[in-house]
Amino acid sequence: MNLNKPVPESLLGLSAEEAELAKLERTIQARKAQLEEARKELTANSPAKSLAILLHSKLCRYNHTDGCGWHYDVSKGIHNWNGYEHKEYLLKADLVLAGLDREPVTTENIEEFITKLFG
Ligand SMILES: [Zn+2]
Repeated sequence: MNLNKPVPESLLGLSAEEAELAKLERTIQARKAQLEEARKELTANSPAKSLAILLHSKLCRYNHTDGCGWHYDVSKGIHNWNGYEHKEYLLKADLVLAGLDREPVTTENIEEFITKLFG
C-alpha cells in the first residue's frame, strides 16, 4: 500500500463537490508552498536574482511577444535562470552589486558602469 497517495474521496464519503473542493484546496496549498519557496529563494538567498527581476522590469524596452523571452522563462511564478534574458539580467545585477562596493567613485567608473549596464 502506497501511504503517500491520497485516499480516494469516494472512500472518505465525500460528495463530488466536496471532493472537488478538497482537490482544489490541495492544489492551492501545493502552489502556495511552491511560490513561498520561490519568494524565499529570491529575497533571502539571492539578492542578485531579486535585483535582476527589478532591473528587467525597469530597463527592458523590448516587445515581450517576440523581442524578449523573459516571460517565456517564468512559469507559474518560478523563474528559469538558465534562460537567455535571465542570464543577461543576472549578469547586470551582479555588476550593480559589484559596482556598489567599488571605490573610489569617479566619472570614469560611473561611465564604465553605465555602459556595461545599458549595453
Ligand atoms: Zn524583457
